[in-house]
Amino acid sequence: MFCDRVSSSLFGIICLSVLQLGCSDAPPASNSTPAGNVPDSALPATANLDETPAVNVVGNSDEPIHHYLHKKEQPHSAEWGYTGETGPGHWGDLSPEYVLAKTGRQQSPIDIGTVEPASMSAIDFAYGPSLIDLVYNGHTVEEIEDHHSSISVAGKRYTLQQFHFHSPSEHTVKGRHSAMEMHLVHKSDDGTIAVIAVLIEEGADNPAFDQVWNYLPTKTNRERKESLTIDAATLLPTDQNYYRYTGSFTTPPCTENVLWMILKTPVELSELQITKFKKIIDGNNRPVQPLNERAVTGPAIR
Ligand SMILES: [Zn+2]
Repeated sequence: MFCDRVSSSLFGIICLSVLQLGCSDAPPASNSTPAGNVPDSALPATANLDETPAVNVVGNSDEPIHHYLHKKEQPHSAEWGYTGETGPGHWGDLSPEYVLAKTGRQQSPIDIGTVEPASMSAIDFAYGPSLIDLVYNGHTVEEIEDHHSSISVAGKRYTLQQFHFHSPSEHTVKGRHSAMEMHLVHKSDDGTIAVIAVLIEEGADNPAFDQVWNYLPTKTNRERKESLTIDAATLLPTDQNYYRYTGSFTTPPCTENVLWMILKTPVELSELQITKFKKIIDGNNRPVQPLNERAVTGPAIR
């Protein structure tokens, strides 16, 4: 199923999945649908880490990592990673399913450079406390919850499916990376994917992130399974103005027609908090892709 597929394939990403139950009050809308209905970081993302570390999973190199949740249910179509022969420059050649990685014209991430002013619909966040099971299997922390959280943009509702982190950021602003980037992946009833990206900069300590950070795997406790409650709203910046463009998943199969909304204002995490994450995962960012015919709309870059 959808969440399983997401969970099974996040590779080198701290992921929090949201299992939507009993929440069907949103009417389907008529926007275009991505070529597939899998979110960012979905579908077969596996690699035999015994042979090909895909990201710099610091601290795990002395222990083979070979299992993925739901691998039997969702066989992986091709190995991919972030370095070497399975790195981003080769994704499009690794599997016919990944061809968009090299032929797509609407790929993500991108550099936010020139922004066209536009009337932007506010994002109406309807997030709430969510019951989560967190699992770390050597690569990923996955959280599955039975609560519904959603956003509404321009009258269309998208349900939160999962959120995860990249280090450093995938999107850049005028060529500059942030320390990290959080992706909150949503799906509408008609299958349209919308991703909220939150840039993370080094700064003040951010206690809200301790809800997740307290359960990151450690060198001595790599297999963790926790149940906790998290309100993703607490992870967002107060200012929710955003840049908008049409892009893709940033991992194979790089499916396009994804609505990207990158919050203009980053959140801050302390150096200690960022270091704690980077000791586990660092380098799981796809390089920025050509903008091609697309435009980025939103507020002026300061
Ligand atoms: Zn992502």
